[in-house]
Amino acid sequence: MKKLSVLLLSLLPTLALAQHAHSHGVGRLDIVVEKNQLILALEIPQHDLVGFERAPKNAREQLTVQAVLEKLKDPARLFVPTAAAQCALLEQKIDAPLLSGGQAADGHGDVEARYVYACAKPEALNDVQVKALNEFKRVRSLTLSFAGPKGQKAGKVDMRNPAFAW
Ligand SMILES: [Zn+2]
Repeated sequence: MKKLSVLLLSLLPTLALAQHAHSHGVGRLDIVVEKNQLILALEIPQHDLVGFERAPKNAREQLTVQAVLEKLKDPARLFVPTAAAQCALLEQKIDAPLLSGGQAADGHGDVEARYVYACAKPEALNDVQVKALNEFKRVRSLTLSFAGPKGQKAGKVDMRNPAFAW
């Protein structure tokens, strides 16, 4: 079995890279500013959200999953864009394949959430406070990438430095 998965991974280098990219405790946040829109794309190992990387097995785990999904569906608890930019949530999408019946190919699985905001004063937009680290205690840091009208920037947020400015 082990040999087989190694073979499959060598045949599918791109897929393997995507699936092995995560290490527990570290998530990703991609921030894109385009015209009046702010897009936040969060990717966190499922383990760091619910404590396991598979489907919930019992009622207690199901409750944990529900609580996490409720937090993810309420991005005001997770992010605060610059107040003066007056950004309002337009749409959101949460993708948690293992929690909705999918199988983990390699024992790992991520939860992805994407939020799109429309900002009344996009010129005032210059930072995001990341409160998600308070909500998801197993997440030690988020690796950030930013792309906007002024260019690109990489960074990191953690409990000590929960804001990212550009
Ligand atoms: Zn994992």
